[in-house]
Amino acid sequence: MTFEFEVPMIGMLFMLMLTIVYYSKEKKVLVENRYFEIILICSFAYCILDTLLHFFASIYSFETLNTTLFGFISFANKVMSILSVTLFFSLLCYTLAISYKKCHDNEKILRNLLRGVVIIYTVAALFTSIRIEQVGTITTTVGSTADLSYIAVGIILVFNFVITIANFKHLDERYMVMLFILISIVFFAILTINFPGIIVTDLLVTSICYVMYFTIENPDVKMIEQVSLARDKAEKANKAKTDFLSNMSHEIRTPLNAIVGFSECILTDETLESAQKDAQDIVVSAQNLLEIVNGILDISKIEADKVEFVNIEYNLKDELSELIKIVQPRIGEKPIQLKYHFAEDLPYNLYGDIGKIRQIVSNILTNAIKYTEKGYIAIEVSCINHNNESTIIISVEDTGRGIKPDKIDKIFDKFERLEEDRNTTLEGTGLGLAITKRLAEMMGGKVIVQSKYGEGSKFTVYLKQEIHANTAKKLKRVIEPIKVFDISGKKILVVDDNRINLKVAVRLLEQYHVDVTECESGFDCLKKVQAGERYDLILMDDMMPKLSGTETLKELKKLEHFNTPVVVLTANAIEGMKEKYLESGFVDYISKPIDKKELERILSKTLADIDVTREISFEPLPSEIYDLDTPLQDKEEK
Ligand code: ADP
Repeated sequence: MTFEFEVPMIGMLFMLMLTIVYYSKEKKVLVENRYFEIILICSFAYCILDTLLHFFASIYSFETLNTTLFGFISFANKVMSILSVTLFFSLLCYTLAISYKKCHDNEKILRNLLRGVVIIYTVAALFTSIRIEQVGTITTTVGSTADLSYIAVGIILVFNFVITIANFKHLDERYMVMLFILISIVFFAILTINFPGIIVTDLLVTSICYVMYFTIENPDVKMIEQVSLARDKAEKANKAKTDFLSNMSHEIRTPLNAIVGFSECILTDETLESAQKDAQDIVVSAQNLLEIVNGILDISKIEADKVEFVNIEYNLKDELSELIKIVQPRIGEKPIQLKYHFAEDLPYNLYGDIGKIRQIVSNILTNAIKYTEKGYIAIEVSCINHNNESTIIISVEDTGRGIKPDKIDKIFDKFERLEEDRNTTLEGTGLGLAITKRLAEMMGGKVIVQSKYGEGSKFTVYLKQEIHANTAKKLKRVIEPIKVFDISGKKILVVDDNRINLKVAVRLLEQYHVDVTECESGFDCLKKVQAGERYDLILMDDMMPKLSGTETLKELKKLEHFNTPVVVLTANAIEGMKEKYLESGFVDYISKPIDKKELERILSKTLADIDVTREISFEPLPSEIYDLDTPLQDKEEK
């Protein structure tokens, strides 16, 4: 009894079972899965064709075959050699995919590589010859197609060996399995050469598929791997969240502690002077708190890709001079000299988002002040102008404590503070530089840091800005209109369910000698207006129980003759909210905590008839700030 076609048939049946099992299981689609599927399909197809060929060989003598059947056998042999090249190349792609699977571009390259090899080999197989030699019941394939396939498979195997061995250091079990498969292939090849009568190829491809399936490609194993990866990721995210919360809790409690403490002091202060001092500290702490909250909002906006850039025409020198003036008091009692130098060729009118540029420079400058105890802080502003574009270069150099070279990359990560800052009195969230870097990058620029530990640091920002065409018309930012109010006697209704917030608004408005009416709900507001009370302006909170500010406004608008301007007063400061409120019919938007200037802008806008404008001139920078005659020297690179 001979086993010419029974052996490939058993291989075919095994492949059929494996294919059914593989495709009936739910699986996670990964890059390497695709190559395993190709291996599976090629092996299955190979076994089917081989079974057929051996079946014919067992019942016919090839010399007596008619040309059609002989042609089919030759064609089937060519297809089998294409299948085997595809199979072995997919095996190589599998090894490559597990080595580079993180990179999507490589995935594309792999796919194209496989396609390319299959196409080239198919074309070569079409134009080369193949012969089947039959000695008794043993058939062998000879001819250039076969030779070509042996060469191709040989080269592919060598590559696969090299890559597998090169990756062995990763101690990934997948490479062990691959090495075992590669060694088996060599063993089977030696066996075939020495004993051509043994039918081994079907056994080989079937066992490759089975070994791979039961070790590294089982969808169940993959699923478990994915689940544990997801668990690790979730645990990491959870830890980051916990760290963030505990860090924030500390950062928020610090200014809150001052606010609560000083407020208690005011209650018992005996002189107006000490009460005013305490109040001043409360304002500073409250501003710190606001900075923290804004930092969190900013970073979440950046991460959600919701940052909006508002481009306007501006004068860089004026803007930065003003910023320096605002930030400078933070130096306090520290013996630090603040110097600045603006290059002569700075374009007068630039066009871009100056708000974001101020934020970037402010972060770097406040850090310089925070992390410097004595010496100087030098701000240098220069530019490279080319046609209508100017690359502005703003550097801030300090003689502070500097940053260790191995920590320098970390400082731009969010919530990342250097170890030595964590338990000190220096407040910070580790968000400032993360925001700074990302904003600069979003504007097509970059931030570079040079630092020498113990000596100082230098942060340099590069940003491309448009030089405004109308350079002749110089901006006169120095003349900023300041509104002077006389709105005494005007009636303003403030609606807020939170008593404290109500009180704050009322106290702020009282300064303008207006007639303020308080009201704690939307219903109350409606009742008052329905009862015929008239107001010149309504400031309305939005988030109120039962009837929100927006709903109240809707009801108000239904009332006949109602034409009082209603301004929304909200703590909901996320991007896009302003537009939403304006669409709902509010005439303007003011966010909590209420900024005095912003309140005045709104009062002047809504109660326009009583607004008197006078001009005040821009104050020069305080005398402690020196102009640098010569450009600053670069400190040593880290
Ligand atoms: P933080 O709120 O802690 O200041 P930043 O993101 O602004 O957060 O800065 C991250 C860290 O980088 C700081 O905690 C500090 O350790 C370091 N750093 C930033 N600027 C300087 C500087 N000028 N000198 C020394 N260290 C600095």
